[in-house]
Order: sequence, then C-alpha cells, then structure tokens
Amino acid sequence: MTVDPRLLASATGADSQAATALSADHGAGVERQALLASFDALLQPERFKDYGPNGLQVEGRPQVRRIVSGVTASLALIEQAVAWQADALFVHHGLFWRGQDGRVTGWMKQRLALLLQHEINLFAYHLPLDAHPQLGNNAQLGQRLGLMPLEGEAGRFGDNGLGFLGQRADGASFGDAQELARRIEGVLGRPVTCIPGRPGPVRTLGWCTGGAQGYFEAAIAAGAQAFITGEISEPQAHLARETGVSFIACGHHASERYGAPAVAGHVAAQLGLDHRFIEVPNPA
Ligand SMILES: [Zn+2]
Repeated sequence: MTVDPRLLASATGADSQAATALSADHGAGVERQALLASFDALLQPERFKDYGPNGLQVEGRPQVRRIVSGVTASLALIEQAVAWQADALFVHHGLFWRGQDGRVTGWMKQRLALLLQHEINLFAYHLPLDAHPQLGNNAQLGQRLGLMPLEGEAGRFGDNGLGFLGQRADGASFGDAQELARRIEGVLGRPVTCIPGRPGPVRTLGWCTGGAQGYFEAAIAAGAQAFITGEISEPQAHLARETGVSFIACGHHASERYGAPAVAGHVAAQLGLDHRFIEVPNPA
C-alpha cells in the first residue's frame, strides 16, 4: 500500500453487472473481460491515482476457469499457478510500477515469459485492494486482529483515507503495547517490531497494511494510541518515543496476505470459478 485517493468503494451493483457478462458456455468458465469487469466493479480502480496500472496487466487466454490469488506476481507464484493450471492470477503487487525503466530483461523477462507461455492472465490491484471496506487488505487485517473501524469518516485517516482507525471489536482495551504486539504475533505467526509509546492500556488503534510507515503522523493526529503497519523506517522509532504513540511493524507481506484471497474468492464464488490462494512466504 500507500498514498493517494479517496475510496468508499461500495460493491453494490457490481454483482449483477458481472453476472450478465458471464459466458453462456457453462462449465467453460468466464470470459476474461467479464472477470475484469467484476474485479473493476468491486474495486473501482478509477477512483485511485496509483503507482502502477490496476486491472489486467498481462493478457492470457480468453476463458478463465481457475484463479490463483497471491500477494506478489513473483516467479515462484507464477510457477505455482502454472502447476495448478490456473488461467488467471490475481495479486496485490503486479509487475509494472511507475519509475521502472521499461526494459523486458532479467527477472521481468522470466516472469513475463512464463505468464505468456502458459497464457495466464495477470490481474493486479494495488491501492484499490488496500482500500475496499470489507474485502481489502486493511479491512481483512483488522478483522483478523479483532479490530473494528470507527463508523464513517471517523474510521479513516491519512492523505487519501487509506488508514483505518478503530478499537477492539469486543470493546476491551489491550493492557499495553506489548500485549497488542503479542496478539499480532499470534495471529500472523511471526515476530513483530514494537516500539512502545507511553505505558498503559491501548484502546484506539490505527492501521494500514504494507509500507505505510509514512502514515504514522497522520495516525497520531487522528488520535491513535498505537499504529500498526507492515514496515518501519528509522524516523518512526523516534516519533513513537517522543509522541508516546506505539508503533508496530508486523511485516509488509504478512499484513497484505488477506485482501487478494478475499477479493478473488468472492468473485470466483460469484462466477462459479475455482480459486486457490497460494502463499509464497516472505520475511519482509
Ligand atoms: Zn504492498
């Protein structure tokens, strides 16, 4: 994740459009364009100014029956999609980003060649996938951690409203930042980096998945007593100590594992497609 737009994606209306676009050929899956229309209707990429193109990044075969979802379109994920005979791959981190030099050499050639050779469609959604209010990375991470965003505008913060602000769904508080950190470690199955702020209970939390350490100050301004994201950079440790707001980095990959399978699974169920999430572990 990070930066930009305004979200408020509402899935309504998407479902019926997608259904009418379904291929008449039952059992043959769905047409690529219908699948794209379903993803677009759900995630509304036109609302976002992003770091790369959202939607269909690499065109594969025209009919899709099997979708693999994953976090990043790495060679390892593409290889596993090939092994499962997938027709489409749905990821958060696609192949193309602003600032690349555009050459198809080395790792880019390898990944593209494998996709094209096996005619696998690559769908990638970056900020729209972070932002979706129910199926997105932030919403899904919050759910797993037992957090609930505050109602309406109060539950969002940051430049483009990508950050979530909320409390425990059970109404309780965490005893302190360390207790919160242990809870996250238990849920994500990995160690986290915790820079405690002031001692004592944590009731209001901000979170934003991936590389959202730059949202820390906005989280503080919004009233968070702790902020959870994927990565930490040098300045955040000082800010946590000086402001008293705890900072927890729980892994870029680990924090962004839940949006892609939620969206791909939702759309696959809607269109009658096979779906599988494939985890390619990443310590970052
Ligand atoms: Zn990311």
